Amino acid sequence: MPAFVNAHTHIYSALAPYGMPPPAPPPATFLEILERVWWPLDRAIDERALDVSARLYVAESLLAGTTVLVDHHESPNFIEGSLDVIADACQALGVRALVCFGATERNGGRDEARRGLDECRRFILANRRPLVRGAVGLHASFTVSDDTVREAGDLCRDLGAVLHVHMAEDAADVEDARARGYAGPLERLIALGALVPGSILAHGVHLTRDEVTMAADAGAWFVQNARSNRGNRVGYPMALTSTPRVALGTDGYPADMETEARVAAETGAEHGEPPSVARTRLENGGALAATFFPVTPPADLPLPDIDALRAEARREAPRLWARLREASS
Ligand SMILES: [Zn+2]
Repeated sequence: MPAFVNAHTHIYSALAPYGMPPPAPPPATFLEILERVWWPLDRAIDERALDVSARLYVAESLLAGTTVLVDHHESPNFIEGSLDVIADACQALGVRALVCFGATERNGGRDEARRGLDECRRFILANRRPLVRGAVGLHASFTVSDDTVREAGDLCRDLGAVLHVHMAEDAADVEDARARGYAGPLERLIALGALVPGSILAHGVHLTRDEVTMAADAGAWFVQNARSNRGNRVGYPMALTSTPRVALGTDGYPADMETEARVAAETGAEHGEPPSVARTRLENGGALAATFFPVTPPADLPLPDIDALRAEARREAPRLWARLREASS
């Protein structure tokens, strides 16, 4: 079985297929999708829900042939220790992972962002699991202040870590950076010293070719998330063909990389790109993973009891939806 790499995902969303209540009223824009679907969900995540989500998502990944996950985590009401819950699930099931907490100011301002960055620092310094590494995370340019972006860059340099952030996923991220006086969110990261070599930029839908080239020259990787981009109707990342440094991610969808690559090829064809672009990006995941796992650590692949994990998810999900309704109201 080929070993696939999912270069950008959100393990915390694993229970969504288990009856997540639909948003009301239905969201019309990308920001409304975040505000009515994903942000209430991440606010509802507690330790128990994350533990069930992580063990299920990682086991389902393995069954789909995905043995490396690059996770971007958010759970503003369970920050400290959250990365251990995800890392324990990955280590226990034999899946390699790069994990980070996506620091943000969207619920609790600068204090919330500091706690997010502190969780990244704590994890990177304390982690001893051979299969898991830590990164520094920012949610996205449009939910953090200049001070937080600067601190994230400083933390990367202090710890020799890379940054993992959503980049120009929707035009709203670009408009926000311009309103703050920057040419765009990429230029903002660069100006504030946060685009360290090896950084992982998810999406890049609304970047120009010059911007993609500038980021790749600075050593960044891009991750295309075709199913998510199509589902959220944010556009197609045309400029990513300016660099070979592009891998595929599922952005919270199950880590079935063959399906992701098929949708990448379909949406690429609609924009005049040959199917080889998606296939190469799928294979590029190996090169991205090799940057944080230069030597493949031996992994004993246990056989997860997927039926038991799915049954546990069915039992846990209603409690999470009750918390979600509370977080939405
Ligand atoms: Zn994402």
